[in-house]
This record gives sequence, C-alpha cells and structure tokens, in this order.
Amino acid sequence: MKILVVNAGSSSLKYQLIDMDTEGVIAKGGCERIGLPKSILKHKTDKGEKIIEQDMPDHKVAIRLVLEALVHPEYGAISSMKEIDAVGHRLVHSAEDFNCSVLVNDEVMEKCRNNIELAPLHQPANITGIEACMEVMPGTPMALVFDTAFHSTMPDYAYMYAIDYDDYKNYKIRRYGFHGTSHKFVSQEAAKYLNKKPEDLKIITCHLGNGSSISAVKGGKCVDTSMGFTPLCGVPMGTRSGDIDPSVVEYLCHKKGYDLAQAIEYLNKKCGVAGVSGVSSDFRDLTKAAAEGNERARLALDIFNYQCKKYIGSYAAAMDGVDCVVFTAGIGENTAEVRSAICRDMDFFGIKIDETKNLTKNDGSIRDITGKGSKVKVLIIPTNEELVIARETKALVEGK
Ligand code: AMP
Repeated sequence: MKILVVNAGSSSLKYQLIDMDTEGVIAKGGCERIGLPKSILKHKTDKGEKIIEQDMPDHKVAIRLVLEALVHPEYGAISSMKEIDAVGHRLVHSAEDFNCSVLVNDEVMEKCRNNIELAPLHQPANITGIEACMEVMPGTPMALVFDTAFHSTMPDYAYMYAIDYDDYKNYKIRRYGFHGTSHKFVSQEAAKYLNKKPEDLKIITCHLGNGSSISAVKGGKCVDTSMGFTPLCGVPMGTRSGDIDPSVVEYLCHKKGYDLAQAIEYLNKKCGVAGVSGVSSDFRDLTKAAAEGNERARLALDIFNYQCKKYIGSYAAAMDGVDCVVFTAGIGENTAEVRSAICRDMDFFGIKIDETKNLTKNDGSIRDITGKGSKVKVLIIPTNEELVIARETKALVEGK
C-alpha cells in the first residue's frame, strides 16, 4: 500500500509518498509560493531532486503538479496515480469533535470548517489543501490526522482553565495542545525501544523545535501538555513568548499603543528567544552567540532551559513519577547544550545523562543518553509526523 501524506499551509504544500510495506519514503517534496509569483515545486526521489518552476495560482494546481511529478517517466516514483491507495492529511484542530484520526466525508469536513475560528491561521489553509486533493483525486480515500487529537485523553482538570464554566461550554475555551502526532510517535517509539508496553510507562516527551511543547504521557495516553488553547503558551519558543501573565496584554496595549490583535501578533512573532536575545530565533545562532559571550543569547537559552526543566518537574509530579524523558524535533534532536542544561541538577527526579553520549551526532537513529545510575531513561528520538499520518491513514483505510 502506498500513501500520500499532505501537509498544506496557506502558500505551501508539503508531501511524502510512503510505501507502507517498508514504511520507506518513495518521494517527497513541497510546493512553495502557491498563489504568489514565482511558485516552485521541489521534488525528491532516490533519483535526485527536480525543481519545477511553474505558476501555481491555487492548491488545486499545486496538487496536480505534485501528481504529475510523482508519475513522471523521468523523475517520477510510480507509474500511475492509481498506485496511490490513500491520502493522509495533516489538520491542526479537531476541537472536541474528534479524538482520533478520521476518514473524510461531508459531515467531517463541515465540522472541521466550523472549527476554523479556533485555529484561524492554520485550519483554513489545511482545509484548502484537503478540498483541492478531493477535487483532483476523486475516489481516493482521504484521512484527517489532527495535531490536537493525541491530547484528547487529558483529564478535565488538566484541560480546563479556571474560568467561568459557561465560557468553556459556550466558546470551547480550554487547553487543546498541539504537536500531538509527534508526541504520540516518540512516546510509542520509546516504549518499543525500552521493550515495554506503553501502558506500563510514564514518559515525558519534549518536542523542542521552532515551536516547542512538552507532554506527560502515562500508560500510552497524554495526560497533560504545555501548549494550550493555542500554540502560544507553554515553554518559550523561537519567537513565541510561551506562558505569560495575561495582564501583560493590556499593559502592552496601553504602553505601545497596540490593539489586541497587534499584541497577540507581538507575543507570537517578536518574543521568545529571538525577542530576549535580539540575535535570532535559531538555536544554532543562539548557542554560537552565547559561546562567544553574548549575554542576551545566554539569557535567552537559560530562560528556555529553565522553563523546560520546570515542565519536566511538574509532569513528574502530575504522573507520580517518570520512567523516560524523550527529546525530539530540531532542538531536541540536535542541540546537545540544551539537553545537557535541562537535565542538569535533576538528581532529585533520578534523571542523569551521560555527557559524552549526549554529544554524539544525530544520525537519524534513537540515541540513548541515559547516565550511569540514572533511574530515568533519557532518549533522543527523531520525530516522524508524516509516518504517523501514513500509519493512521492505512489503519483507517483497512478498517482497523
Ligand atoms: P524544527 O522546528 O523542529 O525544525 O526545529 C528548528 C530549531 O532546531 C531551530 O531553532 C534550529 O536552530 C534547531 N536546530 C539545531 N540544530 C539543528 C540542525 N542540525 N538541524 C535542524 N535544526 C536544528
């Protein structure tokens, strides 16, 4: 079975064609600048990379071009579109409507459209991509895999904010959490690596990338996560503030003359480690600048590491213990300094890493950096959200 995984943004469309017999990627790529001048498709197979510069006024044209590239006699990967058994789409928000992945039908799409106001930046773009695929590939089964669904198992006291209960009921204001496919994937991979059943494990998964979130996974189920109603809260991120006293918003509007939308835009785009350091949102730049003596870069990293450490401590409390801490995503997989700082002075929790193992390069495999005498396993697990989407799509298509 071959599954096409699609992740549509407002002006982009990323894809991977995965052979589910081997779980290997047969082709992958992305369209950029959809709806803008100079759109471009970058398409990769084991034959190499092909760059196609062609106008893509909308997502329908983009997906058509992707399909043409996939079946192209010279740089394609399959001989006919019929070889694509199903399409798995990433969709950001399931609200409280879905607690797992679902096959697309009219009713499902209607619910997804109704949830646009919960994720106004991402959900419409995702939906545009899905609708384009449905038009261009009629008859091919399509599945939706939500960023939020893995977190739907959180108990009410973890997902509820202490606000007027009617506002939760009427407006769906609550913690949802994001990066669910990644937290699910790495927690399952950790259980496999440890040769244990997920039901027997308490795992803290740290998805640290440009957007970062930390989850508590007990018995294979998410019981808490650091992102909330939106991806703005939790640990500080590249340009997002993370947790902040909401009163700052009013004060900021007053002091800087912002309206509410501008204040939220500021917290999303001008804060985080980029705002503190004034250097960059990129951890490669930050660690370099800090090593060269840049004090604000040092401070930005310290704030980030400290907040991650606090979340790990609080989730160990929430689960009454922790068996395994997993680092994943761009920073989690690649930035040894961050892993080292987060795990430093965690003896009380039984967390110790081996600093030499921590320095080994990312070769795409699972790295066990557990230190001598550590009660808790510490693993680096490369995330693979596309594979989760493909696996869930396969299961749905097969009726499992
Ligand atoms: P992500 O959003 O998961 O792509 O992660 C992006 C973040 O990972 C950026 O802050 C990068 O600086 C950081 N990072 C550090 N080392 C690497 C690396 N070797 N490759 C990719 N990202 C890296």
